Amino acid sequence: SGVRDFVFQVAMPRVVFGAGALQHVAREVDALGASRVLVLSTPGQRALGERVAALLGGRAAGLFARAEMHVPVEVANAAREAALALGADCAVAIGGGSTTGLGKAIALQTALPVIAIPTTYAGSEMTTMYGLTDAGSKTTGRDPRVLPRCVIYDPELSAGLPFATTVVSAMNAIAHAAEGLYAPDANPVVDLLAEEGIRTTASALPRLRHDARDLDARGDALIGAWLCGTVMGSITVGLHHKLCHTLGGTFGLPHAEVHSVVLPHALAYNAPAAPQAMTRIARALGTPTAPGGLFDLAARHGAPLALKSIGMQAPDLDRAADLAVKMPYPNPRPLERDKVRELLEFAFEGRRPE
Ligand code: NAD
Repeated sequence: SGVRDFVFQVAMPRVVFGAGALQHVAREVDALGASRVLVLSTPGQRALGERVAALLGGRAAGLFARAEMHVPVEVANAAREAALALGADCAVAIGGGSTTGLGKAIALQTALPVIAIPTTYAGSEMTTMYGLTDAGSKTTGRDPRVLPRCVIYDPELSAGLPFATTVVSAMNAIAHAAEGLYAPDANPVVDLLAEEGIRTTASALPRLRHDARDLDARGDALIGAWLCGTVMGSITVGLHHKLCHTLGGTFGLPHAEVHSVVLPHALAYNAPAAPQAMTRIARALGTPTAPGGLFDLAARHGAPLALKSIGMQAPDLDRAADLAVKMPYPNPRPLERDKVRELLEFAFEGRRPE
């Protein structure tokens, strides 16, 4: 029958949104009852971390500016020890998914409350998913403790995000929503969030190409990231995310770029088994089809289109296909090794799907 069964529960952080909303960070720390904050950033965003510390004044206990991609366990341990040594009672993570991920890793072990201030569209701040990389091998899990307590979305903070990074990060956001539309645990609320998330995110790109500092467009992209991240936090992801996890974790390909390249192909694979999801995605994009529409969106905005152009080596395609089908996980179309290998080949070459 057409009746869907589902269980739905979202735990959303408190969200503070607005141009200049960063100025509220001290108020939000106070609202948590905290008074000794460890600020987290990447080395490249240290200046932003220092700005947060200045806004916190006497509440700032220290700055740990060593966040890096995929949360190496040594970095997580060092950050946790710094938090302990400083007597921190709160962490403020300002940056992209890597910095949010570091905050989550600390929260996982210490239950320290985290305030996330995202500067990309990765959406990690809306999920209970965490990742840790030990000796090159990435494990992921879900735990309610890692969900930030508060998220401050300030479009001014992403105004300087280079356009090339903006495009792939937006495609990363769209990927969360796209897989939400055919997830086994999707529901009508998820459908609405996902379709609107894709529409809002995609609509920001032409405006940002014209002017990467367009604050209205940055705001829309951030709303899109929020909606798409909320979807990802509510559902079980499928083939696309598993492929990206493998390609990023095992072959070291850059996270957002991999999402951008693979998404049209993963959707082409799933399209025959998920027609309603494809209709919604195409409608949100205003294109005839979902896979072709997303490929064109990426192409039009100068994103990489082929795995071979972002560091993948042809001999690794077989191993990637093996790894992708090794663990069972929900996906609308059954996983056939040869068909997944073909999908990867198309993504490797950068061929446009229908
Ligand atoms: P990132 O956080 O690694 O950022 C990439 C680089 O851009 C970093 O050096 C960062 O400092 C810099 N940067 C970020 N914002 C900037 C800005 N506004 N201006 C200039 N530079 C800026 O990349 P990402 O794509 O945001 O996150 C990727 C990571 O997040 C991956 O490890 C991925 O697994 C994880 N992730 C996790 C979830 C989840 O739910 N757990 C969801 C999405 C992504």
